[in-house]
Amino acid sequence: MSHRELVVLGTASQAPTRRRNHNGYFLRWDGEGLLFDPGEGTQRQMLFAGVTASQITRICITHFHGDHCLGLPGVLQRMSLDQVPHAVDVCYPAESQEVFGRLRHASLFRDRLQLREQPVGQNGPITGGTSFRLQARALSHSVPTFGYQLVEPDGRRMLPEKLAAFGVTGPDIGRLQREGRLAADGRMVTVEEVSEPKPGQRFAFIMDTRLCDAAFALADRADMLVCESTFANAEAELARDYGHLTAGQAGRIAAQSGARLLVLTHFSQRYESGDDNRLAGEAASAFGGEVVLARDLDRIPVPRRPAAAGPVAAVLAEGGA
Ligand SMILES: [Zn+2]
Repeated sequence: MSHRELVVLGTASQAPTRRRNHNGYFLRWDGEGLLFDPGEGTQRQMLFAGVTASQITRICITHFHGDHCLGLPGVLQRMSLDQVPHAVDVCYPAESQEVFGRLRHASLFRDRLQLREQPVGQNGPITGGTSFRLQARALSHSVPTFGYQLVEPDGRRMLPEKLAAFGVTGPDIGRLQREGRLAADGRMVTVEEVSEPKPGQRFAFIMDTRLCDAAFALADRADMLVCESTFANAEAELARDYGHLTAGQAGRIAAQSGARLLVLTHFSQRYESGDDNRLAGEAASAFGGEVVLARDLDRIPVPRRPAAAGPVAAVLAEGGA
C-alpha cells in the first residue's frame, strides 16, 4: 500500500504563537518527500515530527514572505550537514530569484548540496516525479506567489479474482499490464477485462492569496486540499486588503472544486485555541466534505480514492448483455 500523508510542521502565519510554529508542511508521497514553505523553526519541527533531511526530495516555495521561507537556510544547511546523497529540486517564484539566492547563501557552511533550481515563471507543469506531475499557478497576493498541484495519472487496478477466472497467473500478470492483451487458456484476455479504473490522486497547496480563478483550478478534484485560512469570516475585508482568504472562502474553494478533504492552516495570531471550532465551522458551512483544522505536528493521511464504480459497472453490464 502506498504511503501518502501530510506532516504538519507549523500552522502560524506572520508571527508564531506559543502553540503554533511558523508555516511548514512535509508531504510524504510514496518514496518522495516534498517540503512546502519552510518557515522559521522548520528544522526543529522536523525533528519533533520524525522527518529527516534525507527524506526531502523536493522543496516548493509559494512566495518569499518570511513565514514561508525563513526556515529554508536552516533546512538547506542541515541537508548539507547530513550529506543528503540525492539531488533535490527547489521550486520558487522566478521573479524572486534574488531572494532565493540570499537564503541559499544566508550563512557560511560547507556546501555539499545538490540543488536543482526550478524557478517558476508561468502557469503549468514544472517537473514530474515517477508517480506524479507537479504543476504551478500564479495566485493573487501582494508579492509573486504560486500555488502547487500534484497530480497522479489515472491507472488501472488489477482484480485478483478476475485474473484467476481468466487463468492469468505469475509473470503473465505483468505482461498483460504492459502489453494490454494476452493469450491465456486458449483465448485472448484484455487488461480491461481483469482490472478496473483507478483514478489518480491529487494534492493541492494554496497559500497566501485572495479568491482567484487559480485557487479553484489548483483545488480541482483534490483528494487533499491544504489551504490558507488566515482570517475568520468577520475579517473578510482585512483578508481581501492583505491578499488572504477567510475560512469560509477556503470552504468555498473546496466545495466548488470538488475537493474531498480540506486542511485549514496559516492562521493569524489573533486566533487562539478557543477559535478552532469557529474557523473549522465557517469552512464546513461552505463545504460539505471533511474539514480538518491543522495543528502543529499533525499527521494527516491523504484519503484513498474509492474505485470508480460507475464505468466498471457499465463495462460488466455490456459484457454480460
Ligand atoms: Zn504572504
